[in-house]
Amino acid sequence: MEKNYRIAVLPGDGIGTEVMHAAQAVLEAVQPRVGRALALEWLPAGAQHYLDSGVALPETTLRRCESADAILFGAMGLPHVRGADGTEIIPQLDLRMHFDLYAGVRPIRTFRGLPTPLSNPKAEHIDLVLVRESTEGLFYARGRGDVRGDQEVFDTMRITRHGTTRICEFAFRLAARRAERLGRAGRVTNVDKANVFASMAFFRKVFEEVAARHPAVAADSGYVDAMALNLVMKPWTYDVLVTENMFGDILSDLIAALVGGMGMAPSGDIGDRHALFQPAHGTAPDIAGQGKANPTAMLLSAAMMLEWLAERSGDTALADGAALIERAVEQVFATGQVRPMEFGGMHSTADITRAATNALRAA
Ligand code: ATP
Ligand code: MG
Repeated sequence: MEKNYRIAVLPGDGIGTEVMHAAQAVLEAVQPRVGRALALEWLPAGAQHYLDSGVALPETTLRRCESADAILFGAMGLPHVRGADGTEIIPQLDLRMHFDLYAGVRPIRTFRGLPTPLSNPKAEHIDLVLVRESTEGLFYARGRGDVRGDQEVFDTMRITRHGTTRICEFAFRLAARRAERLGRAGRVTNVDKANVFASMAFFRKVFEEVAARHPAVAADSGYVDAMALNLVMKPWTYDVLVTENMFGDILSDLIAALVGGMGMAPSGDIGDRHALFQPAHGTAPDIAGQGKANPTAMLLSAAMMLEWLAERSGDTALADGAALIERAVEQVFATGQVRPMEFGGMHSTADITRAATNALRAA
């Protein structure tokens, strides 16, 4: 093999670890196909690690993530496990801040052979990406809530020109790449509440400035309430969406539901130098330990990781690897024979993983 890549693997808690085993199997199957070695280094972090050691995200894990080519993340957090300050154990937010992973990228698409909860036949053509600003917005208030006695509390929404410019630039570059790949015009839709909030009016103003620099990509804006409706009524009409942190948090669960559930929704947290890839779902305590988790979101996240590595390094073999994984997932579901338990089917995490690795080896 010509080149080596080192991947920091943070499996985490609950189904995070279960679906990470699926990603490992699929990445092992893809390596000989593309002639590249991916060294996966499993590292401790998460709520269970906090219970065992008193630290949720060890310094050594952080250092290994820093020097890795990319980070692959399962999910972290356990019910009833709280840190010393009483808040949930969510090292993923610390990783986002530490590595300045400002772009939360959540692509969703329908797969032939799997039903969607929408009855309109056009739902077969859902293929969109939500780009969530991940470093400011309303989440800026995390750990900074202004609690005045027990009568009044303030959380602050922070929107900066710097933060808004870079997330909008990211969205337009992504739309341009998708337009090239899909052979059609690109479009970015900004989701805000500019009619009510000064912060959001500012976000829209900066969005429009950035849009003017990308005349080849269509640009429009919608209010978040109307967009919640549109995303259920006609999601197949959208391409790339860009939005503030909190709206992005909410809408990413909504769009996951459009294609069957959290187990179908991969994500990337991308900065200018580092990136972390993880399924959009959490640790799912309700199904953890039962082998029921749908690993698709994790597998597609691993494919996104290869795509990002290819773009960064110019090593197109990795982009081929990403395409192979995506095609393997398509094949698993295409015949309608394999259906995740999340869809009311009978197929376990291991069944879906095996079907995907078989499809890869046969490719
Ligand atoms: P977080 O706070 O980390 O977002 P959450 O409490 O919102 O976590 P999730 O873990 O995202 O919860 O799960 C939400 C629901 O989706 C749960 O009912 C869970 O069982 C289901 N779910 C999530 N991921 C999967 C998966 N991969 N396969 C099947 N079901 C899943
Ligand atoms: Mg959630």
